[in-house]
Amino acid sequence: MEQKLESIFQSVVARNPGEAEFHQAVREVFESLEPVVARHPEYIDSKILERICEPERQIIFRVPWVDDKGEVQVNRGFRVEFNSALGPYKGGLRFHPSVYLGVIKFLGFEQIFKNSLTGLPIGGGKGGSDFDPRGKSDGEVMRFCQSFMTELYRHLGEYTDVPAGDIGVGGREIGYMFGQYKRITNRYESGVLTGKGIAWGGSLVRTEATGYGTVVFADEMLKTRGESFDGKRVTVSGSGNVAIYAIEKVHQLGGTVIGFSDSTGYIVDEAGVDLDLLKQIKEVERGRVSDYADRRQSATYQSNGSIWDVPVDVALPCATQNELNGEQAATLIRNGVKAVAEGANMPTTPEGIRAFQEAKILYGPGKAANAGGVATSALEMQQNASRDSWSFEYTEERLTSIMRNIHDMCAETAESYGAPGDYVVGANIAGFEKVAAAMQA
Ligand code: GLU
Repeated sequence: MEQKLESIFQSVVARNPGEAEFHQAVREVFESLEPVVARHPEYIDSKILERICEPERQIIFRVPWVDDKGEVQVNRGFRVEFNSALGPYKGGLRFHPSVYLGVIKFLGFEQIFKNSLTGLPIGGGKGGSDFDPRGKSDGEVMRFCQSFMTELYRHLGEYTDVPAGDIGVGGREIGYMFGQYKRITNRYESGVLTGKGIAWGGSLVRTEATGYGTVVFADEMLKTRGESFDGKRVTVSGSGNVAIYAIEKVHQLGGTVIGFSDSTGYIVDEAGVDLDLLKQIKEVERGRVSDYADRRQSATYQSNGSIWDVPVDVALPCATQNELNGEQAATLIRNGVKAVAEGANMPTTPEGIRAFQEAKILYGPGKAANAGGVATSALEMQQNASRDSWSFEYTEERLTSIMRNIHDMCAETAESYGAPGDYVVGANIAGFEKVAAAMQA
């Protein structure tokens, strides 16, 4: 990193001690920005970089709730309203025991540039809690969500801040939170949350959008080398909402997904994933991936090693941050991987990214490749604002064209800054330029 950028980065680290994931996300963006600040010295003079790394507002709050035994539990809630230069704060809520301020800030920071890449008028934010939904009853999850929203509601609004889901937050949780928001405010403000149910202001395709979008992005990358998904072997890490719909889209495009995972292990199914079975286990029964192997003869469950040991043409990390390291990237490369596209946020470590780039593997970073989810959230906001609802076909068409635009914009930006094929540089610069120009204005 160039000296001026390095010294700004060091001051960000010093101001935000102990937030390793946030530092990692900032460094990754700064490493791309040298040619941008060379072209725009005014960004240095007006301290755009220092400003962009400081959230506009950070809210940390107590979330008390009563469990099924009648005992009081206390969790911590967060909402980081990072940047509103392009529109209301927009970004998901994550409920997971690993959540602390540093995770929410890394996610919020990524979200600024991701949302900018969509071309839609949305700023960046993120929130969540260290609450662990695993093993909790519906009633416990409901009481937690209601308590969470009892504090959060005062900070939200369709023109202010619009949360959605992320890890641990799906349609059920959005329902509980929307209900509580409506009850407290006495306003049917559809546009205050996205990822809603179809009967009450949700958008078709929102559930599928992140996974579908990641595969469309990967397909566009493959096309630049005259390839497609047809006949390709693919692994998708994770088994949540993003992974499930990435698998669905790969199968629609003629590829075969032969593996997926959760935090306990991974499944290899050389016959190709039976998506109906996986959906039944994950979406209906809320079970584990090992249940899949118990019910399908062609599948084996592995609790040693990693899903990245399996030789494939395309790898789609769709689980969580830093789930694919340098060694695992080297294994994938040795086994002939052609493309990697990230459905999760920051799933590849800096060493992993370097390995893919040095080996000239097509590598699509999350802030570009997984932008389809938040883009479709913005389409949900459009439908809410016009009190309309669009067909599945029309909404998917919009999503596909947004993802193709993001791909092309990243590719063209990388090319124009002398780094052809470098989607990291392309995404960081294209995402940053629009936000910086708006802040400067
Ligand atoms: N959590 C998703 C993301 O990481 C979606 C956010 C949204 O729809 O607001 O982009």
